[in-house]
Amino acid sequence: MEYNISYLLKNDGIKCSCKKQHFAQVSDVIIESGAVKSLPGLIKKYGGSKAFVLADENTLKAGTAAIEEIRRTGIAHTLYCFGSEPLEPDERAVGCAVMHYDLSCDIIVGIGSGVINDIGKIIAALTGHKYIIVATAPSMDGYASATSSMARDGLKVSLPSKCPDAVCADLDILCNAPMRMLCAGVGDMIAKYISICEWRLAQIIVGEYYCETVAKIIREALDKCVKSAAGLTKRDPLAVKAVMEGMVISGIAANYAGISRPASGVEHYFSHVWDMRGLEFHTPVDLHGIQCAVATLLAIKLYDYVRTIKPDRQKALDYVKNFSFEDYCGFLRDNMGFGAESMIQGEYKEHKYDVEKHRLRLDVIINNWDNICQIIDEELPEYDSVKDLLQSIGAPISPTEFGISREEIQNAFVITKDIRDKYVVSRLLWDLGELDNAKQIL
Ligand SMILES: [Zn+2]
Ligand SMILES: [Zn+2]
Repeated sequence: MEYNISYLLKNDGIKCSCKKQHFAQVSDVIIESGAVKSLPGLIKKYGGSKAFVLADENTLKAGTAAIEEIRRTGIAHTLYCFGSEPLEPDERAVGCAVMHYDLSCDIIVGIGSGVINDIGKIIAALTGHKYIIVATAPSMDGYASATSSMARDGLKVSLPSKCPDAVCADLDILCNAPMRMLCAGVGDMIAKYISICEWRLAQIIVGEYYCETVAKIIREALDKCVKSAAGLTKRDPLAVKAVMEGMVISGIAANYAGISRPASGVEHYFSHVWDMRGLEFHTPVDLHGIQCAVATLLAIKLYDYVRTIKPDRQKALDYVKNFSFEDYCGFLRDNMGFGAESMIQGEYKEHKYDVEKHRLRLDVIINNWDNICQIIDEELPEYDSVKDLLQSIGAPISPTEFGISREEIQNAFVITKDIRDKYVVSRLLWDLGELDNAKQIL
């Protein structure tokens, strides 16, 4: 492996041809069998004399070895444990953790995965203390990132928080994670096919910063994860390790680039739409990585459609001329409720639907069409190979399997344009006047 984690964590960073000096925010990553034995040493290394340990009943059970190690070595600590019901990453959860916080603690230790880690990162940011996460599942790529994916005021937001100083990932724990969470990790990883492809397209179409080294780092981790995925059903430690490494490397790659582009694209926006609708209308949701997995297949389908298009300038101009933002706001409000308002405000800042801005982008798209198709060819795998991979590990291949209707899939696709100010496939299809046709293939 050209880019192993210890190389990526170099203190002095990596001087890159993109003119940036790339730095990782996480300092220690231990992914091995028996990794929890390092936990007391890590707590001492980061100057902790008393640890505030955050977990929920499920993660505490999964990570028993971690809390036992803390007790065995006599490290002073206060444990706050949420119940066993699914934990929403919202005001209530953060409030509970804060109200049980022990002011005599000087280091935060999370034992868990997505939600516990997101809350731990917030507590660490608020207290200014060092933060160690003991991973209980390789289910999402937030381990090495400095943001927390939260629900605030009923809206899904990515809050600036604190990147863990150390990730302690014990394969003895991770290999016993629920199979759905192992599948979710694979889902959050295969999403990177789309994210890298869209990052390159955004560089061409809207002139975004792009770094080939960062893309290579992701491709390598993704490749390793996909090649070993068959071992997941047998809980093969090497396969589980490849997923966990992929999750950590994705976070580091986002640190390196200073943006989320290396780790998320339109498939993540599908997932955000379903999460936001779940908060607002109590529609079905699944694990982040599972939603990303099925949305990756949807995105590959959409890019396969893009490849069949011969751009028609007049058709695109007419489509945009007939587009009514006012009508579209109604559609957004119907489908996203309160969440629509931030998207509408986003457009007032961004003006992506502006006719003149569209015309400029369309020129670039038409002039670079061969290049755009070539990038899609280079970056994206065959639809069937990804479908077979997901089926082989027992992961869903369609959102209908967790209760999302075809109409909801199509509507989510249209709304992915507005989730963030990022150029993704739904924007490309809108620019080409092909959005409504593309919707029909989903
Ligand atoms: Zn670079
Ligand atoms: Zn993700």
